Amino acid sequence: MTQSTIVLGLGGMGSATVYELARRGTRAIGLERHGPAHAQGSSHGKSRIIRQAYFEDPAYVPLLLRAYERWRDFERECGAELLTITGGLMIGAPGSEVLQGSIRSAREYGLAHEVLESDAIRRRFPPLQTAPHELGLYEAMAGFVRPEASVAAYLARAEAHGAELHFGETALSWEPRAGGVRVTTDRARYEADRLIVTAGPWLPELLGDLRLPLRVERQVLYWFAPRGGVAPFLPDRFPIYIWEPRPGYAFYGFPHQEGAPGGVKIAFHTGGTPTDPHRIDREVHDAEIAAMREAFAERIPLLDGELLATATCMYTLTPDEHFAFGLHPQHPQVVIASPCSGHGFKFVSAMGEVLADLGLTGATRHPIAPFALTRFA
Ligand SMILES: Cc1cc2nc3c(=O)[nH]c(=O)nc-3n(C[C@H](O)[C@H](O)[C@H](O)COP(=O)(O)OP(=O)(O)OC[C@H]3O[C@@H](n4cnc5c(N)ncnc54)[C@H](O)[C@@H]3O)c2cc1C
Repeated sequence: MTQSTIVLGLGGMGSATVYELARRGTRAIGLERHGPAHAQGSSHGKSRIIRQAYFEDPAYVPLLLRAYERWRDFERECGAELLTITGGLMIGAPGSEVLQGSIRSAREYGLAHEVLESDAIRRRFPPLQTAPHELGLYEAMAGFVRPEASVAAYLARAEAHGAELHFGETALSWEPRAGGVRVTTDRARYEADRLIVTAGPWLPELLGDLRLPLRVERQVLYWFAPRGGVAPFLPDRFPIYIWEPRPGYAFYGFPHQEGAPGGVKIAFHTGGTPTDPHRIDREVHDAEIAAMREAFAERIPLLDGELLATATCMYTLTPDEHFAFGLHPQHPQVVIASPCSGHGFKFVSAMGEVLADLGLTGATRHPIAPFALTRFA
């Protein structure tokens, strides 16, 4: 009999996982409380940065290289453009985490990169008015992926490979059973050999008796209309960037993207407010908008035009802000995923493969030891 797996939560991680399970010819059941590719969790807002010179830790680089390959494979399968290469700049003072960490990963893995002085950054990317002491690591392979389009494509291809997907259905609990697992939803009960929990910011309420020190943060995305038009921000001349003007204070942005809401997207990576998916404040307040404008007023002055749109989104963070996933320590037929600390989307193409491996065999050939759940035990 072919093995059966339930994937609980069909956001970025879950959609890629259910696709991968179905593609391998196993029985895959997906459960999702909202509709396909919705905006209530962590996988919406049109764009997500992807890059290889990973400031967070060089341990991610092998998985990133695999993610690039899998994005390209999946684009060929689904026929959509999901990954756009624009180049990327990691900006900070010498010794800052974003700059130094990126240089470290680039050197350790021999990734093509340049370190640019402030003058060179201003010449090459005129909207970015870096301070004289700031440097930038430029990496040509960076760019962005499209979250909603990716999730929708994974779900469509999962169904095409025979996955059974249930939308508008909330899982209430799961329990281990002899040789398997049972999930109870607000509509039905499902039994399978394995369960993969990819519930994003809802994960803390689905861990059962497993104690993981997770916290959920609210973050806001902003789209501004640049003064004088979008031309200097077009993706053929403007990179994705992460800018750390001082320790613990970082924002990031994208080139202009076609389609609604127009303009140019920018957001803070730091300073999110504690929340949970049931009480998140979806309103964006004047003081928040003012803080965002203040961040770019002197650094990207062209951006200081009309605010076109905002969106709220959630990070699911671990104490060290690294990923945490793997087999449930007491119930190895259950895989816990999702705590990706606000930087997981770029990986979903590879994570689908990793989580399907873990679900089907309990192991994977990919180097995931640094992300073990058990480090918090
Ligand atoms: C503002 C913002 C900016 C980001 N920027 C980047 C970036 O530039 N680059 C990058 O790589 N990453 C970025 N990230 C992080 C990345 O988007 C997330 O790591 C990733 O989307 C998490 O995916 P997920 O599948 O774990 O969670 P989600 O997408 O939230 O999916 C969880 C799913 O589970 C469903 N669910 C939950 N509970 C239940 C239940 N009981 N029953 C049924 N279904 C349930 C939810 O409805 C949801 O669809 C950003 C995140 C945010 C919020």
